[in-house]
Amino acid sequence: MKFPNYAYDYQLLIKHLFERVRDWRPNQEIIYRDKFSYTYLDFYKRVHKLANLLKSLGVEKGDMVAFMDWDSHRYLEAYFAVPMMGAILHTINVRLSPDQLLYTINHAEDKILVIHKDFEPLIKKVMGGFETVKDIIFISDWEDYKPDFDTVGEYEELLESQSEEYEFPDFDENTVATTFYTTGTTGYPKGVFFTHRQLVLHTITAIAQFGAITEPTPFNQFDVYMPLTPMFHVHAWGVPYIATVMGVKQVYPGRYDDMIVKLILQHRVTFSHCVPTILQMIVGNPATAKFDFSFWKVVIGGAALPKGLAKSAMERGIKIMSGYGMSETAPILTLAVLRPDDMDVDFETKLDIVTKTGFPEPLVYIKVVDENMNELPRGRKHVGELVVRAPWLTAGYFKVEEKSKELWRGGWLHTGDIGYKDETGYIKITDRLKDVIKTGGEWVSSLDLENMISQCPSVAQVAVIGVPDDKWGERPVAFVIPKNADDKGIESACRNILLTFVEAGKIEKWAIPDRFIIVDDIPKTSVGKIDKKVLRKIYAEKYAKG
Ligand code: AMP
Repeated sequence: MKFPNYAYDYQLLIKHLFERVRDWRPNQEIIYRDKFSYTYLDFYKRVHKLANLLKSLGVEKGDMVAFMDWDSHRYLEAYFAVPMMGAILHTINVRLSPDQLLYTINHAEDKILVIHKDFEPLIKKVMGGFETVKDIIFISDWEDYKPDFDTVGEYEELLESQSEEYEFPDFDENTVATTFYTTGTTGYPKGVFFTHRQLVLHTITAIAQFGAITEPTPFNQFDVYMPLTPMFHVHAWGVPYIATVMGVKQVYPGRYDDMIVKLILQHRVTFSHCVPTILQMIVGNPATAKFDFSFWKVVIGGAALPKGLAKSAMERGIKIMSGYGMSETAPILTLAVLRPDDMDVDFETKLDIVTKTGFPEPLVYIKVVDENMNELPRGRKHVGELVVRAPWLTAGYFKVEEKSKELWRGGWLHTGDIGYKDETGYIKITDRLKDVIKTGGEWVSSLDLENMISQCPSVAQVAVIGVPDDKWGERPVAFVIPKNADDKGIESACRNILLTFVEAGKIEKWAIPDRFIIVDDIPKTSVGKIDKKVLRKIYAEKYAKG
């Protein structure tokens, strides 16, 4: 049968998300620290101006435009303007080593670099090695600053003289829109990339999901949004796109410093997302104890949400839940929402639900499989690797064929996370494949142990790793930061709390770590997660013999 087709060939392009910005809430505010504030209408115009500026520098379809900035309105402008021209936005991780930074800039074939003045020392170290960069735009951030290398000018000054008219073209929705490099693993970072279609579907699905829930962290047009995951990392979880489409007030904090708490209180920010460490820094800081955060909703991702942290946040009235995703997945895969049937559950049960890894979003499939890709039954006893399908997963790693094939072996994206699906369909991650502790032939979840130890009231932060052991293969060791630096009883407090979980049948006695090493710092990755690779190294160098 042949059906007629005279319709407009509607491609899922970011420009179709953007168009409503002009009319929906033209007077709504977008704020950058205490430095700048403007309306959605101004934002709409400036996105056009940025496209004109980039065009004047010769940017064409498929060209890479790279940004190195703190979380800002400028980044938001680039999230739209660059892909809407048909070019690709490369969001650079500002915490890469000089060597990795140069590698990613050359590997991505960046043509234009837009850099904040704070990164001048870093850029100067590597610019001699640039292979493709043609022009640099600098950001003075309203400070008296002139770079001592060649640039085409300052971002705000250059925008001023541009026209507000720009015709964003139509093109194939499978055109790549954004790219960035993964962090953390060995070797050089790998580039993941996302198309217009993927980002549009990711945005619309998240709007539907957040709008459909009431507990614990709905996100809708009445919210005030502030990201607390860097905009260079997985498009700040895609939430700036979501916020912009909904037309909410947006607050961009710039560099993460003392200003964050001031901004939350001043603008009554109601919705944020971050890794556990950032929330810990805010709620665990005695100086914030006097502040009321009861209007604040926070989605925690990037790492498991420890129960102890969730509890102390909830006790302060903060509404909290976990979300799960990774660089390769754009990122949102699951949210630990409460089902309507769970609205009246008690505090402890609620704590259990919101600290699970979550229920898959619409369109997302997650399977738990064994090494042969056989799907495992539901239940906490059936732990295996999580493999995923969704419309917004990276198709591979840029210019790295073998790793791309490996990522997608068997037609499913391999997360490298292990966990289980419970009887009700919620996912629970128990470890990273490379972090799980294998002791005496049994698997012990480092995340479970961290979760339990975090519930000890005298513990501020904890990380558990597996260390080599002649007899058992590996044994768990815990690094603990006490709330009170002089706490002599911290080790026995940790052991005692674990014994209560042994008694409750949650863990075996032999899973209790052999050592509790008291430290005043735990190393973090460039995106603020506990860096277990570095911890294992520290252990080997400093503690293994002791
Ligand atoms: P990245 O690609 O740097 O964003 O890291 C992704 C990894 O962070 C995942 O593969 C997980 O290991 C971890 N992760 C993210 N969200 C969660 C979560 N809710 N619970 C446990 N681990 C998580």
